[in-house]
Amino acid sequence: EAPESLNFLEQIIAEDLANGLAPDKLRFRFPPEPNGYLHIGHAASICLNFGLGKKFNAPVNLRFDDTNPTKEEQEYVDAIRYDIEWLGFQWDKECYSSDYFQELYDWAIELIKQGKAYVDGQSPDLIAEQKGTPTTPGKASPFRDTSVEENLDLFQRMKEGEFEAGTYVLRAKIDMSSPNMLMRDPLMYRIVRKAHHRTGTEWCIYPMYDWAHGQSDYLEQISHSLCTLEFKPHRELYDWCLDQIYDNNKLRPKQREFARRNLSYTVMSKRKLLELVQSKTVAGWDDPRMPTISGLRRRGYTPASIRKFSELSGISKRDGVTDVSLLEFCIREDLNKTATRVMGVLDPVKLVITNYPEGKEEMLVAENNPEDPNAGTHEVPFSRELYIEREDFKEEAGSKFFRLTLGQEVRLKNAYIIKGESVVKDEKGNITEIHCTCDLDSKSGSGTEASMRKVKGTLHWVSIQHAIKAEIREYDRLFLDEAPDSHEGKDFMEFVNPDSLKIIKEAYLEPFLQEAKLDDKFQFQRLGYFTLDKDATSERLIFNKTVGLRDTWAK
Ligand code: ATP
Ligand code: MG
Ligand code: MG
Repeated sequence: EAPESLNFLEQIIAEDLANGLAPDKLRFRFPPEPNGYLHIGHAASICLNFGLGKKFNAPVNLRFDDTNPTKEEQEYVDAIRYDIEWLGFQWDKECYSSDYFQELYDWAIELIKQGKAYVDGQSPDLIAEQKGTPTTPGKASPFRDTSVEENLDLFQRMKEGEFEAGTYVLRAKIDMSSPNMLMRDPLMYRIVRKAHHRTGTEWCIYPMYDWAHGQSDYLEQISHSLCTLEFKPHRELYDWCLDQIYDNNKLRPKQREFARRNLSYTVMSKRKLLELVQSKTVAGWDDPRMPTISGLRRRGYTPASIRKFSELSGISKRDGVTDVSLLEFCIREDLNKTATRVMGVLDPVKLVITNYPEGKEEMLVAENNPEDPNAGTHEVPFSRELYIEREDFKEEAGSKFFRLTLGQEVRLKNAYIIKGESVVKDEKGNITEIHCTCDLDSKSGSGTEASMRKVKGTLHWVSIQHAIKAEIREYDRLFLDEAPDSHEGKDFMEFVNPDSLKIIKEAYLEPFLQEAKLDDKFQFQRLGYFTLDKDATSERLIFNKTVGLRDTWAK
């Protein structure tokens, strides 16, 4: 492969291989914290790590970074596993940081014995204050020079649950005047008195990220530990922690950083997504307006479209925002090739074909997908009384209106050419029926001269007596602002779009859709792409609009 086709992380790996790293030593990991559902930003990291696994033929671990029982739950573990598999990736080992609590503890004891860690009994505020500022050195804690014996005793008692949360912490003894604030005696352990979803009440001290992450990488022999840019200053500490335990015969993991992916018109941090859920602004983590993988799935996004989006937005060294229109482009491209074409009317008005025999019904043939010659056809029932969209008819219209008017011809998709003749109105003047005549020789696909006739517009329709009723949910952006969490002094919740969900209670669909299944994708002709919602039953069909046919969203 040509070197220029490698992104900067792939280049680092290729160099390591060129410098003698054995290819069978390559191993990657995806390390989610089970404190929420995965979002489209995580998909970037998943596609990156599992993509490297594929590219270099190396295993990828799924590691749950479960060191904070106050926020983590089994529900999230299960959802994360499901989403990764759904995206099309398979991990090698399923690991948990909590599996390493004993090793991490034993290593911490070693550090205390070597005089490289100490228990600090000051308040968290005081400890923070003593850290100093990047330009002034920190102040040593009075606990910094406690004897090894005393530290071993205190740490032991921390572990045994003698102390309340917040009373003691274990700190690494590094350098209180380091220009890197993270090196100023960082916390290694804190007391958390809450049951853990895997280890229960076995532990009441929990390792901090910096103490757990690199050591977990080492235990799993991860060659390249890729994380987002905010961890760059942590790299020095990552390396310091590894120095304390590193054995020359083993592989030494390497932390490298890449840019976070953000998406316009949404928020991505799990804390904020949780706030949307808890405040009931959305119906749950999988609300179709959420940028979560589960929300996108429910909305009708496919794994391929999300993988494509990750590929197109790329891996970068600088943080950036990807426009949500790229995501929509990816799903449109995919669904155009795969979605079954059907007809549904969302805002119905009755249309009567006066010269079509009463009581007659016929089955017409509809192509499932003009983009796919193997997609086949299905039948659509036709009869004298139909629904069309209210906006597809105007009594009087200018010359640019190519839909139905009085005296003008249009084609009914897969059916006949009709001509508007008259309207029936209620006492308020609203149109209740449109009467048309039909060119009975013009049936689509019949090969007659009349069937080849060109008319300016084609409308979708459903036969009233055959139509099935359904609920349709249409979604707009969840936020009105491009970057809702970037405004100083303003909470992101202020930018929530109050009209992001529109429910149409009575739409009418062709009967073919009665058999729709959860993962089926449809293009409702002229309207957009739709998929069945998970709350649907055969008595109450519900479809979610995934995306419109083209990008009509004005900035
Ligand atoms: P959040 O703020 O959403 O909670 P996080 O980084 O704390 O994000 P983790 O569960 O720790 O969430 O993330 C697992 C992996 O996914 C990490 O390696 C993290 O760097 C990566 N990741 C998280 N968000 C993004 C993003 N927006 N773009 C790229 N990678 C991300
Ligand atoms: Mg994290
Ligand atoms: Mg987090």
